[in-house]
Amino acid sequence: MSTPPMIDAQRLSLMLNELRLPAIKHMWGDFAARADKEGWPAARLLAALAEHEIAERDRRRTERHLAEAKLPAGKTLDTFAFDAVPMVSKAQVMAMCAGDGWLEQGANLILFGPPGGGKTHLAAAIGLALVENGWRVLFARTSDLVQRLQVARRELALESALAKLDKYHLLVLDDFAYISRDQAETSVLFELISARYERRSMLITANQPFGEWNSIFPDPAMTLAAVDRLVHHATIFEMNVESYRRRTAEARRAGPGRPANFTTPKVLEAVRDNQDDK
Ligand code: ADP
Ligand code: MG
Repeated sequence: MSTPPMIDAQRLSLMLNELRLPAIKHMWGDFAARADKEGWPAARLLAALAEHEIAERDRRRTERHLAEAKLPAGKTLDTFAFDAVPMVSKAQVMAMCAGDGWLEQGANLILFGPPGGGKTHLAAAIGLALVENGWRVLFARTSDLVQRLQVARRELALESALAKLDKYHLLVLDDFAYISRDQAETSVLFELISARYERRSMLITANQPFGEWNSIFPDPAMTLAAVDRLVHHATIFEMNVESYRRRTAEARRAGPGRPANFTTPKVLEAVRDNQDDK
């Protein structure tokens, strides 16, 4: 490293530590050498270093937010075949992934549909896109989160547990209807919905329509009140399609040239890829 002699490199390192500028600390030597060699004006060197630090900071932040989001691996928008769920508008999903409007209003997104229809995949993919766009997301199986909140309630810390979830612009509650009777009895889920109402967004996936949500809450009045709050500002996608897995399996059986009753190009590509793996 060709450090100019009048610079005390060690002291500079300490100062950059103190200022919490790790990227500049790491890069300044190479950048300075290049600037000297190519005769950059001092301002250009400073700007290059600052830009580098900001880019690194963004990258680290996204990395942190990705780790905390606990998203299931490998579920992306790129690998989601929108043509398999014609009732879901890709353009609308893309607009929501930019975050525009709905997250600021604390609006919700609800995905209904039978098992295997792609609800978890789509929810995770939207979560991932939002994190990449700078939003904070937490993905959880509803029954796991309810369990955590019940523990907090027993420890008289429910309010602070709910407040901690506020840092997430979007809370994904996967498999909303899968909570057990005794989980329903304590109604922490209702308190969560009330706490986030019109402030922070939720993305809910559920196999059962609202009419069958009575087992999720202690009594019908509470179910009604919860549904009311959830749908007040909500986009709802009814993903009433046959199981994607089953359809791809059927297409495989029929062979790529004669797909069963499902013929989107992406699905066939996936099927062919699977066959190549074998
Ligand atoms: P659900 O949550 O509705 O039960 P999943 O999202 O778990 O369904 O989907 C089941 C499997 O099929 C997953 O491996 C998922 O990645 C895949 N899958 C479902 N729908 C699609 C789709 N439209 N495009 C690509 N993969 C899909
Ligand atoms: Mg699912």
